[in-house]
Amino acid sequence: MANSEGDSFRSIIQQDPGLPRDNPTTSFWQTPPHKLSSAQSAELPTVTDIAIIGSGITGASVVKTILENHDTAQVVVFEARTVCSGATGRNGGQLAINAAETYIKRREALGAKMAGKIVKFNLKTLEAMREIAAQFSEGLSQAQDPEVTEVTKVRAFNDEETFRSMREGIAALESDHPDMRGVYTVLDKEACEKDYGVHGSVGGVVHPAGSVWPYRMVTNLLDAFLRRYSSRLAIENNTPVTEVVYEPSTDAKYPYIVHTPRGCVRASQVAYCTNAYTGHLLPKIRGILFPLKETMTVQELSPPMIWPIPASWAIHYTPFVDGDTGHYADGLIYGMQSPNSGYYFFGGEKCPPENLISSDDTALAGTSVQFLQDQLLSLFGLDTGRSKVVSSWTGVMCFSSDLLPLVGRLPSDLTGRSGSGEWLCGAYNGYGMPCAWLAGESLGLMILGKTPRDYLPEAYLISERRLKETLSVERSMGFLNAP
Ligand SMILES: Cc1cc2nc3c(=O)[nH]c(=O)nc-3n(C[C@H](O)[C@H](O)[C@H](O)COP(=O)(O)OP(=O)(O)OC[C@H]3O[C@@H](n4cnc5c(N)ncnc54)[C@H](O)[C@@H]3O)c2cc1C
Repeated sequence: MANSEGDSFRSIIQQDPGLPRDNPTTSFWQTPPHKLSSAQSAELPTVTDIAIIGSGITGASVVKTILENHDTAQVVVFEARTVCSGATGRNGGQLAINAAETYIKRREALGAKMAGKIVKFNLKTLEAMREIAAQFSEGLSQAQDPEVTEVTKVRAFNDEETFRSMREGIAALESDHPDMRGVYTVLDKEACEKDYGVHGSVGGVVHPAGSVWPYRMVTNLLDAFLRRYSSRLAIENNTPVTEVVYEPSTDAKYPYIVHTPRGCVRASQVAYCTNAYTGHLLPKIRGILFPLKETMTVQELSPPMIWPIPASWAIHYTPFVDGDTGHYADGLIYGMQSPNSGYYFFGGEKCPPENLISSDDTALAGTSVQFLQDQLLSLFGLDTGRSKVVSSWTGVMCFSSDLLPLVGRLPSDLTGRSGSGEWLCGAYNGYGMPCAWLAGESLGLMILGKTPRDYLPEAYLISERRLKETLSVERSMGFLNAP
C-alpha cells in the first residue's frame, strides 16, 4: 500500500475495532447453525475461576486444556454473537502451512533454529487438528462431519518474482533443516498444466495439506465438553464482554469483573481469545494488533468437476493496486473443494484498501466476489459462466506488527491494570489453523501455572523484548507499506 496513504492507515489501524458486529454476512460453514449456537445459562454465573472471552478455535483449545488438566477449575466462555461465529466459523477451511514463503524473513529476524521450530510447530498443530476433529466427530451424523481431507496443495505462481522467492524459501528451509527435504516439490509451467490442470502460471509448488470444516470441529468439541464437564463449564452466547475491570479490594480471590449487558461475572483470571476484536477490550494493543478482512466464496461449477487427485489450491501473485479502480489485491487466493458437495471454497481480496483494514464482517465487496469467481475459472482454464456463486461472506483475521502470534500473560503495559491474571492468545497473521490449536493449549497450561510443551516456539511468547523492539504501531505501518 502506498506510503502517501500512511497517515490514514496509521489512524485506521489504531481505531477501536469495536465488538463483533450484529448481523454479520452469513457464512456457509455456519449453515445450519449448531444446536449450541445461541445457548446460554438462564442466569450468568456470579463467579468463575477462568473467564475465556471468545469461542473460536483458540477459545475451544484453552477450554479443553484447562478442563482436562485441572480437577476443579470452573470455566465460563463469553461469546459476543453465536458460538464460533468469528474467523474460525468464516474461514477458508485450509489445513496448510505458509512455511517456505515466510522462512527467509523469519530466519533473518529469529535465526534458523527458531524459524525451523515454527515450521515444525505449524506441522504438529495441523496433525493435532486432524486428531481432534476425528476424535470429536466419532458417532455423529453426517450433518456434523468435519470433512477432514488429506490433499495435495497446488500452489500456482502468476509471476516470476513470487515464484523465485518461493523457490529461494524452499532452498533455505531445506538447507537449514534437512528433515524438511521432500515436503515441497517444485513444478515447471508445463507440469502445472499437464499434471495438475492449473493454467496461466509461470510455475508451481506442491506439498501435502488438508482441509476441514472448522465450525463443525469446534462446535462438536464444545458440545462434548458441555456434557462431559457439565458442572464446570458454561458457554454464554450472545454475551459480549464490554469491559474488564480489576478490583482486588472487593474480592481478592476473584479480582476481575467481567462486564456484559447481561450482568457481571467475577473471575480469578481472564483469557482473551478475541482475535481481531482484542483492541476493543485492550486499547493499548490497538495498532500493535490490527484487523484484516477477507472475502470467501462458495462456487458451484456447471457441469461439475471433481479432481482425480484430491487437491487444494493457492494462487500467488505480487500484490497490486488496480490502476482503473484503485482496488487493492492482496497477493494470495486460496481454494479447496468440499469432498461431499463438490463445491469450491475460494477466498482472497480485491477491494478499496480502506475496506481491507476493517473489523466489520457485515459488509461484502462485490469486486472481491467477482475477482474470486474470475480467478477460479482462469486457474482451471474454464469458460466464463461456468461458475455460480452459492454463498459469499467476509471474516476478519488478526495481524500483529512482527507477524508472529502473541501467547502468554499480558503485562500491565498492555492491560493498563496492575493485576497479573490476564492472558492473550491470538494474532495468527493469515493461516491460523496451523497455530491456534497448540497455541491455545500452551496458553491453557500457562494459566494453570504449568510450563507449555517444549514444541511451542518461544518467539510467540509475549516478552519485554518484543514489546520494546518489535511490537509497535511503527512496525505495523512498515508491514502495511511493504507487504
Ligand atoms: C476469510 C478468512 C479465511 C481464512 N482462511 C483460513 C484458512 O483457510 N486456513 C487457516 O489456517 N486460517 C484461515 N483463516 C484464519 C483463521 O480462521 C483464524 O486465524 C482463526 O480462526 C482465529 O481463531 P480465533 O479463535 O483466535 O478467533 P475467532 O475465530 O475470530 O474467535 C474469536 C471469537 O471471539 C469473539 N469475541 C471477540 N470479542 C469479544 C467480546 N468482547 N466479547 C465476547 N466475545 C468476543 C468473536 O465473536 C469470535 O467468535 C482465515 C480467516 C478469515 C477471516
